[in-house]
This record gives sequence, structure tokens and C-alpha cells, in this order.
Amino acid sequence: MPDATSSSARAARLELARAAYRDIPVYAPHGADDTMPEPRIDVSDNTNLWGAPPAALRALHDAPADVVSRYPSLYVHDLKRALAAYVGVQADEIVTGCGSDDVLDAAMRAFAEPGDRVAYCAPTFSMVPTFARMNALEPVPLPFREDWDADADALLAARARITYLCSPNNPTGTVVSPAVVERVAREATGLVIVDQAYGEFARATHAASAPGWGRVIVMRTLSKAFGLAGLRIGYGVGAAPLVREVEKARGPYMVNAAAHRAAGAALGEGLPWVREHAREAVAVRERLASDLMARGLHPLPSEANFVLVPTPRAAAIAHGLRRRGVLVRLFTDLPVVGDALRIGVGPWSTMRELLAALDDVMAAETKGGDS
Ligand code: PMP
Repeated sequence: MPDATSSSARAARLELARAAYRDIPVYAPHGADDTMPEPRIDVSDNTNLWGAPPAALRALHDAPADVVSRYPSLYVHDLKRALAAYVGVQADEIVTGCGSDDVLDAAMRAFAEPGDRVAYCAPTFSMVPTFARMNALEPVPLPFREDWDADADALLAARARITYLCSPNNPTGTVVSPAVVERVAREATGLVIVDQAYGEFARATHAASAPGWGRVIVMRTLSKAFGLAGLRIGYGVGAAPLVREVEKARGPYMVNAAAHRAAGAALGEGLPWVREHAREAVAVRERLASDLMARGLHPLPSEANFVLVPTPRAAAIAHGLRRRGVLVRLFTDLPVVGDALRIGVGPWSTMRELLAALDDVMAAETKGGDS
């Protein structure tokens, strides 16, 4: 049959899409053309490389059939109680979602009108400008200070409807100082989002203070320290009237029943596992950073479960590693940083293999070419 869907018909249909959407790329962190075989080691996405809490896996394994056949809970009240107890707030100060991506997106929709500004220090989590544009908002990237703290003066001067702080920040791993978080929380004109997806690996956490600040929502996730990235559960913490608005924008049924069940187990019986592995991730991060420094690389000071290594050789190293079955996240042309590799931390045996592959790539580079 001839191709009935001619290119002009396809183009005509595309015109039906909102103009603001047409230029937004589909999220594809490693590029669309990934013809390489599956990596042997994947340290590219900051998930928990030790796996998931065994208690959560048991809860999934033992799930009754109606976890699949029925709709999930509308607003997962018991899970909110468990998250509230974990964070140290009240249950009505928690909003959950399908990953913290979902909560972040819903918060933008709930608090900003089309055309409003979202201010943040760049580089930061790549979905922030994307969600801003998806919600017809204007991303306003501002420079970090030289010491990698957020620039409170610049952020406050932007008078944005939403100010986004990410601490520890993805992809740099650096933190916003508590003094800057506090000042922005008190002086910003609009909503302040403090993204603490990596809060379990950092020294300072801000979730328990969020409800008292009145204009702050702290975003957290079960995708990192809790090892449940595949189940997609995130949450926001803030004053009850704020989180209620986010819940409206989010809509019902956003935590699926299997995720709900596993998260309950992870926050109960699974919590010692989560805490122990977060501690181990911090220890491995420090050891990895010093082993990278010994190789002449300069990772930024990280309080997350990854390190960012700025180097003009990032692309060559990432490709060399990929050929050796190791997938790291390559960034090119980041503001301030330039080209860089982001490496997730995991069991030391995995880090050892990564470092061996890195040595091999660097040795090949020195010999004048890597094949
Ligand atoms: N915030 C930050 C800073 C992140 O790095 C990520 C994941 N890469 C997220 C939010 C989203 O995580 P999730 O949707 O899995 O909760």
C-alpha cells in the first residue's frame, strides 16, 4: 500500500500541538542513537546501585491480585503518614506523586501563571527548565557563586514566581548552604522549591523546616536512597495549604498500588537497610573522589550519591568507557563547568571495575588513541 500518511499530513497534525511544546525535546539522556550493547556497569542515573530494600521486594512478591486488578488509593493517606513520620512533619504536610518529577511539574502548574518566571542557578536538574516550558513558564537561569553556593542576591532580585534550589544539586553534587536556603525561604516573593532528591546523602536536610517557612515545598523521592526508582514515588513537604494545591494540580491515582505497597515496607521494616546503604554511599563517594583525584581528575565537592568530574576530555573518556561496557553520564557545555562526567556511586567492587576501565581508557589516550 502507498504511504497514506504523507509528510504534509504528518506536518499538518503537528500543527495541532501547542506551539510552546514543539521545540521541547523528548528526554533522552544518552542521545537517541544508542547502538552499543547493554552496559555491563551503569553508573549513569544516580539510582541505588545496591538495589532495593529486601522488605520492599518481599512486599511486592507477596502482593494480592487486587493490587493489580483494582485502582490504587486516591491519595495514599497511610503512605503520607509513614513519610511524615520519617521526615518529622504532619501527614497533611505531605503530597505524593509519580516520582518527584510529577510533584515538581504539578507544583509549577499550581503556583505559576503562564508567562511567569522560574529562577534557578545553572547548571541544575535538566527537567526544571523543561517542566517550566511545558507549563508555559519562563526559565531564568542564573550563575552559581564561585564557591558553588546559590547566589541568593541574584535569585531574590529575579522576583520569580517560583525559585528553585537544588541541594545537593544535580549534576554538580554541590550543596546550597543552609544560610542561603533560609534567606531565600524567608525573602523570596513567590513559591520556593528546595529539591532534596539526594537529601539522604547530605549533611543538611530542610524537609522538617518546610511547613514552618510557609512558602517552601521541599521535594524528596524514593528513587535514590530508598532504591525504588522503578516504582516512581516522590513527595513534597510544605505547609498544608500549599501541598493541597499541588495535590489538586497533580490529580488522583498518581502512586500506583504496587509502589504504594513497596514504599510502605521500605519506610517501615526497610528503613535500617536504607540508612545503612546511604551511609555506605557517602563513604564510597569520598573514596571514589580521592581515587579520581589521584588520577589527576578534579571532582566537585559532592554531598550526593554521585560525583561530577569536569574535564575537557569528558566525551572521549565517556566513549572509551562505553566501549568497555561502562555507562557514565556525559554532559557537554554545562554553564560554568564545561564538559563533564557524572559518575554514580555503588558497591566498591563496581567502583573498582569502573576505575580499571578508566585507567585503561586513560592509558590508551596517552598512547595517542583509543580503539
Ligand atoms: N530532582 C532531582 C535533583 C533529580 O536528580 C531527579 C532524578 N534524576 C529528580 C528530581 C526526579 O526523581 P524522581 O522523579 O525519580 O523522583
